[in-house]
Amino acid sequence: MEKFDVIIAGAGLAGLAAAYTLAGNGLEVLVLERGDYPGAKNVTGGRLYVNPIRDLFQDLWDEAPLERFIVREGAVLMARNHSVSIGYAGNELRAEPHQSYSILRAKFDRWLAEQAEAKGAMLLTKVRVDEVIKEDEKIVGVLAGGDELRADVVIACDGVLSLVSEKAGLRTPGSPHDYAVGLKEVIALDPAVINDRFHLEGNEGAALLFIGEATRGLFGGGFLYTNKESISLGVVIGVQSLLEAGSAPDAPAMLDAFKQRPEIAPLIRGGTTLEYAAHVIPEGGYKALGPLYGNGMLVAGDAAGLALNIGFTVRGMEYALASGYYAAQAVLRASAARNFNSETLAIYKQFLEESFVLKDFKNFQETPAVLGNPRFINHYPELVGDLMGQIYRVPPGPKDRLYPTMRKVFTLTEMWSQLKDLRDVSKI
Ligand SMILES: Cc1cc2nc3c(=O)[nH]c(=O)nc-3n(C[C@H](O)[C@H](O)[C@H](O)COP(=O)(O)OP(=O)(O)OC[C@H]3O[C@@H](n4cnc5c(N)ncnc54)[C@H](O)[C@@H]3O)c2cc1C
Repeated sequence: MEKFDVIIAGAGLAGLAAAYTLAGNGLEVLVLERGDYPGAKNVTGGRLYVNPIRDLFQDLWDEAPLERFIVREGAVLMARNHSVSIGYAGNELRAEPHQSYSILRAKFDRWLAEQAEAKGAMLLTKVRVDEVIKEDEKIVGVLAGGDELRADVVIACDGVLSLVSEKAGLRTPGSPHDYAVGLKEVIALDPAVINDRFHLEGNEGAALLFIGEATRGLFGGGFLYTNKESISLGVVIGVQSLLEAGSAPDAPAMLDAFKQRPEIAPLIRGGTTLEYAAHVIPEGGYKALGPLYGNGMLVAGDAAGLALNIGFTVRGMEYALASGYYAAQAVLRASAARNFNSETLAIYKQFLEESFVLKDFKNFQETPAVLGNPRFINHYPELVGDLMGQIYRVPPGPKDRLYPTMRKVFTLTEMWSQLKDLRDVSKI
C-alpha cells in the first residue's frame, strides 16, 4: 500500500499551486487528475489578476504562458434594441508589472503541472478519486482507480462540485442560488485582426463584460477576452434564474444569440470555433463558503466555493492559486508538528483570513444578494439605452431640451425605485 505525505485530488489551479509549493519544500506529493491532462476539463472565462498572487509564486511569472495583458476594459449594457458601452483605458494598465492577463487553461494548467513535477510532485492523469478512506474519524487516504492510496493529508481541489470533500462529510451540496453555469467558446482569429478590431498594439489585450440581453435578462452576463490568437467568448447564467425561468431558456441558444448580436458579430467575424465548454461556477460568496478543513483534509479553490462575482470582475483563479498555496503552508506547519488533525490544520483558515482571499470575501459578502436584484439585468440596460436613444435622436420637428428628455425616462416612480436600489448598492 502506497503512503504519501500529501494526496491532492484535482490538477486545476488550486491543486497544482498546492503541489508546486509542497514539492518545492521537499514533501512527497501525489496529484490525481481525472482528465487526460491538467487543464483538459478546466474552464475559465479567461482573466487572471496577478497582483494579489505575484509574491506567492515569484519564480513563475517570467515563463508563465499568459496570453495578453489587458489594457482595455469595457462594460456593455445590452438592451433588446440598443446598447450602451463604457470603456476604460488607462496608462497604468500598460505599465509593467501588468495587472491582469487573459489566459487559456489548457495551456496554463499543463505548464503549471510541469513546474510542479519539476519540483518533484508526482502527477497521475486519467485517475479519478472515487472515495476517501476514513479511520478513527480522520481522513487517511483515497480510493482511486481501484487503488487504496494513503497520505498524512488529503487536499480536495476537485472543483466546484467537489465529490471528495462531500465524501469526507465536509461539504453539503449548496442551493441553486449559489451557482451559475458558464458556456464558453474559444474562437481563433489572426492576431493582426484582433489588434485592429479591439484597437490594440502588440500583445495588449481587451476585456469586455456584458449585462442584460446577453443572458436574455436572466441573472448573469457575457464576457469577451482577447487571447494571442483567439477570443474567449461566453455567457454565465445563474442556476436559480434558469430554474425560475422554467423550460423556456436554452443556455446554448443564449450563447448563439449573443454571438449574433451586432455588438459581437463583427468582432468574431471570420473566426473558427476551436473549443466549446460548459462549466459550473460557485457564486454564493462568503455566506456560501464550504468548510475549509477537517481531520486530515483541506479544501481549496472552487471546491471550497472560493470564486467571487462582484459585477465588474469575476474572479476565481487567483483565489484557487492562493488557497492552494495557503493549504500547502498549513500542511508544512502540520508536518513540522507531525499532527494532521483539524485543530492543527485550522491554521489554513487563519492564513486565508489574513490574506486577500477571505478579506475579499468578507468585504463583498453582500454582493451576491445585491447583484441578484433583477432590475440590474433586465431594467437598467433598457432604461439607459432608452435615455441615450432619446438624447441622440433628432426628430423631424424641433428637438426637446435635455432635462425634459431625461424626465421622460426618469419618472418619479423610477427615481423612487432607483433610490431603493442605491440603498442596496451602498452595501457593496
Ligand atoms: C465560464 C467561466 C468563466 C470564468 N471566468 C473567470 C475569470 O475570467 N477569471 C477568474 O479568475 N475566474 C473565472 N472563473 C472561475 C475560475 O475558472 C475557477 O474559480 C477556477 O478554475 C477554480 O480552479 P480550481 O483549481 O479550484 O478548480 P478547477 O479548475 O475546476 O480544477 C478542478 C480539477 O479537479 C479535477 N477533478 C474533479 N473531480 C475529480 C476527481 N474526483 N478526481 C480527480 N480529479 C478530479 C478536474 O478535472 C479539474 O482538473 C470562471 C469560471 C467559468 C466556468
